[in-house]
Amino acid sequence: MSIASPSSHAASSRPALKPLDTALAELLAQAAPLSGVETVSTFDADHRVLAQDLVSSLDVPAHDNSAMDGYAVRCTDLAAGTLLQVTQRIPAGSTGHALKPQSAARIFTGAPIPPGADAVVMQEDCEIVETLEAGGASAAGVRIKALPAPGQWIRRRGEDVASGAVVLRQGQRLTPAELGLAASIGFDKLVVTSPVRVALFSTGDELVMPGEVPPSQMKPGAIYNSNRFFLRALLQRLGCVVTDLGIVPDQRQATIAALQGASQHHDLILTSGGVSVGEEDHIKPAVQALGELNLWQIAMKPGKPFAYGQVGSAHFIGLPGNPVSSLVTFLLLVRPFLLKLQGVDQVAINSIAIRADFTWARADKRREFLRVRRNAAGGLDLFSNQSSGVLTSAVWGDGLVDNPAGQTIAPGDTVQFIPFSALLS
Ligand code: AMP
Ligand code: MG
Repeated sequence: MSIASPSSHAASSRPALKPLDTALAELLAQAAPLSGVETVSTFDADHRVLAQDLVSSLDVPAHDNSAMDGYAVRCTDLAAGTLLQVTQRIPAGSTGHALKPQSAARIFTGAPIPPGADAVVMQEDCEIVETLEAGGASAAGVRIKALPAPGQWIRRRGEDVASGAVVLRQGQRLTPAELGLAASIGFDKLVVTSPVRVALFSTGDELVMPGEVPPSQMKPGAIYNSNRFFLRALLQRLGCVVTDLGIVPDQRQATIAALQGASQHHDLILTSGGVSVGEEDHIKPAVQALGELNLWQIAMKPGKPFAYGQVGSAHFIGLPGNPVSSLVTFLLLVRPFLLKLQGVDQVAINSIAIRADFTWARADKRREFLRVRRNAAGGLDLFSNQSSGVLTSAVWGDGLVDNPAGQTIAPGDTVQFIPFSALLS
């Protein structure tokens, strides 16, 4: 009688888990920035990546100007309670003239400081007084109630941007503040990298699209396709142009056909589900039939199975099907990959040290990303169910605790927190 040889399900045949940092480094090494650029209106450049250095040809502000509504004065004229003649009025957008001794200029926020003035006294520290000029005509005077220091309330020429400075660099991802800064040095158009073209599909015969079947008529075993919705939204937030190929059945030929079509005119094919090695997981043989595939078991939780490869000239990334695994692997691996394809040079994700106000007693041999929420006391609370299928955890939470392998957490411990706000922009 022979002893049965171990089946392919046996634990002994499992490959070693790949550390997340190694997986990310290997992935980024494949992400050669795409070469295409285009010119867009600065209005439309939010989320895009700058493909040029922006050099300022002017000082911002262009002149010393007032930071307050008030009176421009010469400090040497002043002692406590000095009364000055108001000899000019300088609203924003106009220029004054040299300030004579013993006089003040009525000035408004943003207006250039007249030559000779060396401080602004805010109007709250002044008292308006009618004075009599020689010849009996009345004129405005101002009594300075608080003595200014030289330079007070003056915004210096060039204090924001100096002429000749590189204000924004190629590879910088643009957010609303960058758009304003570019506009402040006169750029109404920007040269940005072309969007990444992504083909997206979901695998799984159990998947049904919401709207196709009402909840009351869902067959046993059927589930709604949730991954498609958040993956498409995540891609769009990253400025990608998405071709959504919907749901591909769990069949080898259908998967091959979908991949083949998607490899044309796309930079990346992104799929969810079917990346394990069960006989219902068709991604691996299908990608291998057309190109190259690395199937990784990443030492992270949620999100162990992950596939990277190439189909024709397109990159291929296969995400796990469990919704939280799919979401977390997208945020930690696909997002930096896409940013690098777009030419972003800084793709590292920074975490923040914060106090845990919870207990995590089950240390795992994989690095974990726990869904947590900041509380009013400045600590973190843990969502009660950390299963990779529980999407509620990601909605309840406002970020992830990056918990090293083998680590338990006790209340009061300092943990590393990655806010979703840093990952979803
Ligand atoms: P798989 O990675 O295909 O083995 O799927 C793992 C789990 O994720 C299964 O419970 C699937 O039903 C579920 N799943 C796969 N794809 C999706 C999807 N697009 N939306 C929601 N759940 C999914
Ligand atoms: Mg599946």
